[in-house]
Amino acid sequence: MPLYDVIIVGSGPAGLTAAIYATRANLRTLVIAGQVAGGQLMLTTEVENYPGFPTGVLGPELMELWRKQAERFHADFVDDNVSKVDFTSRPLRVWVGDDVYEGKTAIVATGANAKWLGIPSEERLKGHGVSACAVCDAFFMKGLDVVSVGGGDTAMEDSLYLSKLAKTVTVVHRRNEFRASKIMQDRLLSTPNVKVVWDHVVDEVLGDKKVEGVRLKHVKTGATQDLKAQGLFVAIGHEPATELFKGQLDIDEKGYLALHPTEEYRTATNVPGVFAAGDVHDHRYRQAVTAAGFGCMAALDAERWLQKHG
Ligand code: NAP
Repeated sequence: MPLYDVIIVGSGPAGLTAAIYATRANLRTLVIAGQVAGGQLMLTTEVENYPGFPTGVLGPELMELWRKQAERFHADFVDDNVSKVDFTSRPLRVWVGDDVYEGKTAIVATGANAKWLGIPSEERLKGHGVSACAVCDAFFMKGLDVVSVGGGDTAMEDSLYLSKLAKTVTVVHRRNEFRASKIMQDRLLSTPNVKVVWDHVVDEVLGDKKVEGVRLKHVKTGATQDLKAQGLFVAIGHEPATELFKGQLDIDEKGYLALHPTEEYRTATNVPGVFAAGDVHDHRYRQAVTAAGFGCMAALDAERWLQKHG
């Protein structure tokens, strides 16, 4: 195995942008892309706010273009998950199963994964009507009644997507106002087959082998009501993918990687030569364009670090 100048873990906007910048700086670059490569945009439909696409672009299409651009400058790709890292000695080491890859620097761009409600019936019926990916599973809900949970932009986007295929969409939210952007709220609230149930949570998913309904609970009174539905779509935010790095990289109280920015290296972690980019450390902006920006910064930091430390 060659000694890479930089090993990038992750292949969403942050990882692939880092790869473009690293390879164009002539750094020997490995991207460990993950089994489900491409990050969160792979689970989205129309992206209307990514600059350069005046009529919008589909998330998976954008990531395909992005990957092609990274491959053009000869980054090596491994389409599998990292199983272990050792950043305690040099060279830095990253395992994929039994294969070990060695690098002088590393960029962690593992992003974040969808959060779940955490109730047993949800776990039991995952893949049988319970989903966190409307784009993946809306197709199975043609002409059916579905429930979606959440009050952010993802919940709005998913519910709108579902409304095009399902007969009805009931959005369940734990407060009496959404946190989503006004434009998305307006779109949702003006869609005829969508209704909102405020101040409720899903207490249980009903059904033995597949979803047949949900039991909703009022957050203040505790009163419950059952709703018939064949699908439950959970869109309540994301959790950073930092499990692999516990004990090696500093992690903040919310579970995100903690940066240790210096004047020279704004994307530095606590380990010299290891940088972080995108949603794995950024819980504030969480946009494709900001993740891409962080990816660029991390690659420039890695390049500067290599110039100094070899
Ligand atoms: P989010 O903004 O964090 O919203 C999560 C929602 O889920 C909130 O409404 C929250 O309720 C609710 N929630 C969290 N935990 C819950 C639980 N256990 N039970 C019930 N409800 C729960 O997450 P997001 O919607 O995934 O968006 C993440 C970021 O991506 C945001 O910055 C968003 O603007 C951006 N985004 C943008 C677009 C776009 O522009 N096209 C699309 C998708 C996402 P509370 O409101 O009560 O906290």
